Amino acid sequence: MSWTVRVDATACMGSGVCAGSRPDVFRLAGRHSEAVRAAVPPDDAVLDVADTCPASAITVTDETGAEIGPRP
Ligand code: SF4
Repeated sequence: MSWTVRVDATACMGSGVCAGSRPDVFRLAGRHSEAVRAAVPPDDAVLDVADTCPASAITVTDETGAEIGPRP
C-alpha cells in the first residue's frame, strides 16, 4: 500500500517548507519543489505537509487514486 505525492510546479512558490519538513519526500528543484519519489508509504505527516503548503500545490492520493490531501 502506498500513496502518491505530486507537486504542481505552476502553483508552487518555492518556499521550501515541504522540503524542510520532509526532505525524504520533497526537494527543491530550481524555483519549485518536486516529489523525491512519487510513491510513499502512508504517513499522516505527509498529509500535514500538504495541508500547510501555502500554495496548495501538493496533492496526495491513496492507492485507489482518491485525493486525500490536502485535507479540507
Ligand atoms: S510548501 Fe508548497 S509552495 Fe512551498 S515549496 Fe513546498 S510545494 Fe512549493
